Amino acid sequence: MNNLIKILDPHEAIKIAAGEVIERPANIIKELLENSIDAQAKNITLYLKSAGKDYIKIVDDGIGMSAKDAMLCFAHHATSKISKVDDLNSITTYGFRGEALSSIAAISKVELITKTHDEKIATSITFQNSKCIKQEPAAHQTGTSFIITNLFDNIPARKKFLKTDETEWNQILSIFQAFCLRYLDISFKIFHNDILMYNCHATENIATRSGQLWNSNLHEQLIDIPKSTTKNITLQAALSTPHYYRFNRGQIFIFVNNRWVKNHELIKAIMQGYEGVLPHQKYPAVFLFIEIDPKLIDVNIHPKKEEIKFLNPGIAQQVVSLKIQEALSNFINQKINSEKKVSIKTDSLDIALDQNIFNDDPFDTKVPEKKVIFPASLQEPVSNNLFSTPFISKPIQKIDSPIFQPKAQEVKTVDQTEEINVTLFKEEELYSIIGQYHKTYIIIEQSDELILVDQHAAHERIIYQRLKNQGTAPSIQLMFPHVIKLSAQAITKIHSQTHLLSEHGILIDQLSETEVIITATPVGMQIHATEEIIKMIADMLEHQDHLENLQINEKIITQKACKTACKAGDTLEITQMQNVIKELMITPNRFCCPHGRPTMYTMQLKEIEKHFKRDYVGNKQKNIDVF
Ligand code: ADP
Ligand code: MG
Repeated sequence: MNNLIKILDPHEAIKIAAGEVIERPANIIKELLENSIDAQAKNITLYLKSAGKDYIKIVDDGIGMSAKDAMLCFAHHATSKISKVDDLNSITTYGFRGEALSSIAAISKVELITKTHDEKIATSITFQNSKCIKQEPAAHQTGTSFIITNLFDNIPARKKFLKTDETEWNQILSIFQAFCLRYLDISFKIFHNDILMYNCHATENIATRSGQLWNSNLHEQLIDIPKSTTKNITLQAALSTPHYYRFNRGQIFIFVNNRWVKNHELIKAIMQGYEGVLPHQKYPAVFLFIEIDPKLIDVNIHPKKEEIKFLNPGIAQQVVSLKIQEALSNFINQKINSEKKVSIKTDSLDIALDQNIFNDDPFDTKVPEKKVIFPASLQEPVSNNLFSTPFISKPIQKIDSPIFQPKAQEVKTVDQTEEINVTLFKEEELYSIIGQYHKTYIIIEQSDELILVDQHAAHERIIYQRLKNQGTAPSIQLMFPHVIKLSAQAITKIHSQTHLLSEHGILIDQLSETEVIITATPVGMQIHATEEIIKMIADMLEHQDHLENLQINEKIITQKACKTACKAGDTLEITQMQNVIKELMITPNRFCCPHGRPTMYTMQLKEIEKHFKRDYVGNKQKNIDVF
């Protein structure tokens, strides 16, 4: 009978063992980052190509290694961090197995360049297939660089197992984010395919760091739990308010004794803390830092040291969920107290604003029997409020004002960017508003003319011009962010415009390859109108090679004006009509809406007289007693 057991070639054995520690580029990056931090680096830069599959370089300004240590660090079980098994119980640095560099050197080509403070010349050493293939003096600042190429060239099965760049990049990103969150005092940079993806300067503030990492509004939505010790567990955290949530756990980071760990028990505890606060199956952002006696946890249960085990998980869970509950209920109580005046209730569809803030508004209860139809956006409590003139009780009244000119036949589509000078009006003449026709047109009498003003077109033009002069638009946070599905390509394109959108009060965040969420909308704009704008911009970007910011701005403003203007069919109060007309008269480009439709139609008395077979003589009507 043949013997079945064979002793593996030592080289093969090393490769197999190394493959267990290093499965993908993210694992290498984690080990390298840990080593740089253990070496007290304050600036760490990563350069990657194809999500690390083709090229990984890390540069740190830590203590560096002597020429002798540089050679030794690739050896099996080479570590400067422990010397006996008992030390495992009180590990405070990252490394402790002395296995990372030897494993990396077994499955790739590694070039190390390093220099200590005391040395003048740096050492460069290159390892491939666990063998030193080059050693020479080199130039380098104090600190260490590692360059890793030819990853898994000698283990084709592993190489084949590597996922798409996107998947590998996402793994790397989580690790990078975790280190950035844990070490605020270190500056981290990461370049991917020669593009600087994140540049996180050292900071003292976790909110600032989260702002550097996520360009959503998360940094404005963090509650602080200051450091305190309960039942021998020291806890500190930053967590998102109830107004913020994610569709996955991507922004939950747990650190135990400085180590970023995955631990289901603590995730469960976090979710218990948020129970009743977040919608079903939605997740918060939580950066949780726990310190516990190392003897009460086992960090050695996972080959890549990614998981930990609590000897008594119940206590840790209890502390975490109670602390979170406490912080959230404090936040909610504070909010209730401070927002007694302005209660903003938002969900994905409606924005209800307390009437009090619009006290100036003629739409409010002064004419209670008539329904207010204008959208909330028109009820801005700002000084240039379209409807901020005091309520006038007389329904028809002569108001001193410039006349409406030019006449209807002169109304034409005007270039939207062209400004018509208001001094075009040479005469000052009175007008009176007669009323509303077909819930669509405002009827005005001025001198010999009868003017019909399209209420939507006029209001649209007024808002458009206002928006053009406005700085960053105010926005309202959505309690339940709204998901939009788009093509992956559109998402990439729209993502590059987040800054521009945010200037218009639209805050979005990427949720997945094909989904973005709207987290805030411009004040007064319905969520579906905001969604339409995003889709329209995505569509434009997708179908045009090049779009100027100006064009995008123009499109957004036009849409916003259209969506927030009063509609045909809205019943208007007399004061509302007066305010529209009053502002229209001093609005540039007032003769057409931003889409080019006329805002008004003028009929001459002469035409009307002719129709009624009356003789018209200047201002005097000859047959005045005809009827
Ligand atoms: P461990 O980190 O578990 O000790 P590694 O294989 O990761 O094992 O590293 C081996 C040794 O190489 C470390 O103990 C440390 O002395 C040295 N080393 C690794 N990376 C760096 C670095 N960036 N700066 C200085 N020394 C380093
Ligand atoms: Mg290490």
